[in-house]
This record gives sequence, structure tokens and C-alpha cells, in this order.
Amino acid sequence: MTDRFISLLAMGGTISTAAAEDGAVPTRSADELAATLAGQTGIRVLPRDIERISSPAVTPLHMWELACAVREEIDGGAAGIVITHGTDTMEETTYALALLLETPVPVVLTGAMRPPHAPGHDGPGNLAAALATASEPGMAAYGPVVVQQDEVHAARWVTKLFSTRIAAFASPAAGPVALVSEGRVVPLLGPPPAIDRLGSVAPPTRRVELLWVAAGMDSLLVDALPDAVDALVVAGTGGGHVPPALARGLIDVVRGGRPVVLSSRCAAGEVLRSTYGGEGSERHLLSSGLVSAGSLSPLKARLRLLFGLSAGLEVDPIFAPEVV
Ligand code: ASP
Repeated sequence: MTDRFISLLAMGGTISTAAAEDGAVPTRSADELAATLAGQTGIRVLPRDIERISSPAVTPLHMWELACAVREEIDGGAAGIVITHGTDTMEETTYALALLLETPVPVVLTGAMRPPHAPGHDGPGNLAAALATASEPGMAAYGPVVVQQDEVHAARWVTKLFSTRIAAFASPAAGPVALVSEGRVVPLLGPPPAIDRLGSVAPPTRRVELLWVAAGMDSLLVDALPDAVDALVVAGTGGGHVPPALARGLIDVVRGGRPVVLSSRCAAGEVLRSTYGGEGSERHLLSSGLVSAGSLSPLKARLRLLFGLSAGLEVDPIFAPEVV
């Protein structure tokens, strides 16, 4: 045993559930989760309860509060941070932490797909792999990561690809950045080239909505956009395209003074800049004032815009080509 310690912050999710008559709900504390690691490692684990909620209930404010808690733990001397969290929105919380935090030590999110009372519960294995990752100082350079099924995924690329399988997570654009084997971290890729952290940060106060584009969609919804909405992220088709009948409405939103960020609904790849012409093409939309999300997924572009605007940043620097 050394003086080094890892902070275990518990947010809830399937990893912390117990069976109940009307379905599994998060009940286990950080202490109980830490107990599942007993004797597995020489490093001290200090548990701390943050929330005990299912991850669909996690809001940007929870993400902000979690970032503050992580900062406190780092300032308090933690050599690494493990966060247990529901898998449904884990990619969003991980990316929010990448926006909000400097990570001089590893910050690792993990969870479980199968509850503790189900055969093949994956919580203890994921937690042990997360602890191994958080104990490896070199992983700090990757920023916040997700560890599931012995794979380490970077915040910018990770997504929950399957709704039920235990191998639910993937990074379609790049693959995992490392593997965990026999309790050791085996790097595969270097850290992502772009820095996700925002130039300044603040609690979330702005409202950014997400519009998923489908064939035949027109401007019905965007023409009725409530005043409460500060900005919009559009998940366009392919390289960043929308039906002609929707393009007009989106451009009206921009002309009305509200930012519209253009991303792709594809699982990986960039928004094009200069390939297609015509109404609703990427050239038409970008030259009409929409801003490209680059290679960020719609979910992550929304958080980037939401936290960036909340911190008083302008939309163009938030999505500068060198950071997206
Ligand atoms: N519904 C759960 C949650 O995200 C699923 C999970 O944890 O895997 O909290």
C-alpha cells in the first residue's frame, strides 16, 4: 500500500443498481462499489457519492458539478479519478469533462451493461480495468476516457453503439486508444490531435437543442422554434446536408441571430466544406452562416456549443477548424 490514492466518484447507472419489483434502479453507494475492488490492487481507493441516478437523468448541470468534484479531487492529491456512470449518456458526460477540465491525472468513466443481479454482470471487471487505467499516469494525456470491456476510448470518439450487448462501446472513427491486459494499460494510439477543452468555462445557462434530419423534413419545426432556444445543432445527412425545404428555415434561424451548427448524423467522419452545391448542400449551408462541427458527433457538438456559449464564447472560435 502506498500514499497514492484514486478517487472513485459514483454517479449511478446500471453498475450501481439493485433488483426491484418494478425494475432495476441505482441504489449502491460509492463505498459499496469500492468494496468490489477489495484486495485487487495495492492502490488506495477513496469513494465519494456524487449522484445515484440513471444516466438519462443526467443534465449538463450534473456534468458541470461532476467536473467541479473532479477538480476538487485532483487538487486534493488524487493520482487518478474513476467515475462510475450509466452507460446511456456516458459519452456525453465524458465529452463534457473534456470541455471543462484540465487533466494532469487520468480521468476514467466506466459502468455496466448488465445489472449486478444478472448473469455475467460486467461491473466488477469494468471497474477493475478503469482503476488500472486511472493508475497509469501516462493516460492523463488522453483527457477523460471511457473504459469498458478492457478497451479505453477517447472522449471525442467514443459512442454507445449497441443498446444491450456488453460490448456496447466503440470509437468508429479511430478505434480504442488502448487496451487493458492483466491489469496493464497497453496503448494503441496517441491522444486525439485536437484539444477539446474550451478557452473559458462556466456553468451551463444556455439552451441548445438538437435536430436530427430525416428524408423529406421541411421547416415546420424550425419555423416554430421557441424563443427559449438559444442555438441549434443539426445532425445532417452524410457530409452535412439537409433537404432543400429545411435549408430555408435553418438559414432564417441564423439570420434571426441564433447560431446553427452543422454536424453529420453518420457515426463517423467530417462535415464536408467544398464538395457539393445546391440548396441544402454543405457549401450552401456554410456560406449562409451555419457553422461546421467538423468531426464532432451531434451530441458532442451540442455540449460544445452549450458550454461554450454559457462561458460567453462566440460560436466561430468554439468551432474553429483546428479544434473540431
Ligand atoms: N439506463 C442505464 C443508465 O444509463 C443504463 C446503464 O447504466 O447501462 O443509467
